[in-house]
Amino acid sequence: MKKSLYKFSILAVIFVVALGGCFDARSSSTKNYFNLAQLSQESNIVPIAVIGSGPAGLMAGIYGARGGKPTYLFEGNKPGGLLMDTSEVENWPGEISIKGPEIIEKMRAQAQRQKVQFIEDTIERVDFSHWPFKLYTENGVTITALSVIIATGATPKRLGVPGEDQYWGSGVTSCAVCDAAFFENEKVVVVGGGDSAVEEAIQLSPYASEITILVRKEAMRASQAMQDKLKAYDKVSIIYNVDIEKIVGDDTTVTGVSLVNSKTGERSLYPTAGVFLAVGHNPNSEVFKPYIATNQAGYIQVEGRSQETSVHGVFAAGDVHDYLFRQAGSSAGFGIDAGLGAQRFLDDIGITPSLLAQLSPRFYGEKTDDAASFRSVPAQEVHTIHNVTELEALTNAGGVVILDFWAEDCSSCKQMLPIFDAVAKQYEGRALFAKIDTDEAADVVEKLYIQKVPTLVVYKDGGLVARFGNVMSRKELTAFVEQFLS
Ligand code: NDP
Repeated sequence: MKKSLYKFSILAVIFVVALGGCFDARSSSTKNYFNLAQLSQESNIVPIAVIGSGPAGLMAGIYGARGGKPTYLFEGNKPGGLLMDTSEVENWPGEISIKGPEIIEKMRAQAQRQKVQFIEDTIERVDFSHWPFKLYTENGVTITALSVIIATGATPKRLGVPGEDQYWGSGVTSCAVCDAAFFENEKVVVVGGGDSAVEEAIQLSPYASEITILVRKEAMRASQAMQDKLKAYDKVSIIYNVDIEKIVGDDTTVTGVSLVNSKTGERSLYPTAGVFLAVGHNPNSEVFKPYIATNQAGYIQVEGRSQETSVHGVFAAGDVHDYLFRQAGSSAGFGIDAGLGAQRFLDDIGITPSLLAQLSPRFYGEKTDDAASFRSVPAQEVHTIHNVTELEALTNAGGVVILDFWAEDCSSCKQMLPIFDAVAKQYEGRALFAKIDTDEAADVVEKLYIQKVPTLVVYKDGGLVARFGNVMSRKELTAFVEQFLS
């Protein structure tokens, strides 16, 4: 009797310890917590929600979908991520040399073949306090996600010095792939000492007359292979131990940078027409911080090798969590692990193929059609301007005119064009909208000192009243236009 009581106690302890394991702060994975019965009341269900469309998001999507779990990929405000602004990549698996956008194009095709559903929308807010998780999109949809993979990447840092905001888009930029052509025969500087700085300098070399890389330390941080590449470019020189104190200009465009030598303290004014920033990146984790553990710099923390975050069922992959190497190849690898992790999580909580079949009428389907129709909004309301005469005819007519400057090589511009079309339709009769291809309308580019694409320029009653040198979401563009209509 005593022996069986002892056995029972041991079993009870094992059971409690096992259950306790499930009850850790991270998981709360009780049957009640993952209440599958309640799913029959939910709508817009997404079994695997991938947030972000760079290499990490695309690989996560491919692995999620291949595992038989319907996978929806929210593309965000910069479809394709940072690779879209990258020229030649020589360290992508299996490719001697390939352009960044081509990598993304191939991966997207692969993901589409695996039936990953691409959604042209951005996640603005999340609620991870309960399962199923809630994701709130910029287009006003509430998604019910059974698992989430965060692959939101990182955004280029700014310097934070005087003059940077004033001349952003008028000489200051962070994308040589997009903007190098505006600096034909000009002297430019690149700020930073990493691989991106080398990339920017190489990208500028067919256009600029002189390229100076400004490095704040006495050595570059870029890989030796990248530094060696620079030797073939005799237009490129490097100045070490300099900090930028200020970006100076003539109120229209940049004319120089004010430097201070960090060793000697000596100050100097370095003349330049363009400042290309390559000073690292910040992880895009703000939206998730109320629920997810991050390190001091904002990188999402993951558990061991699992890619799982501090919330059970939520995973992270790529530049948003990788503070160390941040390579496109390793991001793709992390995406694979996150996709497999999400699948395993769904299996563990009892999301079976038959349950998925039962739930399928409640999947996020109708909104996918919305996204498709958003994409196909006709463009006929938008004018096309080819020269200054056409510009003057349109702007002198009075009222509000919004101009969108774009270029064929600029991925952010192409992302902006359908948004511009959609907002133009929304404001039919209240404002005029026109697109200007910078490769075609050189006289307009010169007249308005366009040095960055995309750039939006606003005329009101014949006068230029505002310019904005960055991509905007549909919501941001709507708010931007509203301010000129009152
Ligand atoms: P990094 O973080 O590697 O480098 C940022 C650079 O900017 C550093 O040299 C840093 O200086 C400098 N910097 C930071 N703040 C300032 C400031 N306020 N003033 C002046 N300089 C500043 O970022 P990258 O974007 O270059 O690279 C990110 C990752 O992407 C890396 O892992 C890189 O290998 C990878 N990459 C790979 C490429 C390829 O393989 N083709 C191309 C581009 C990027 P300091 O060194 O003093 O800290």
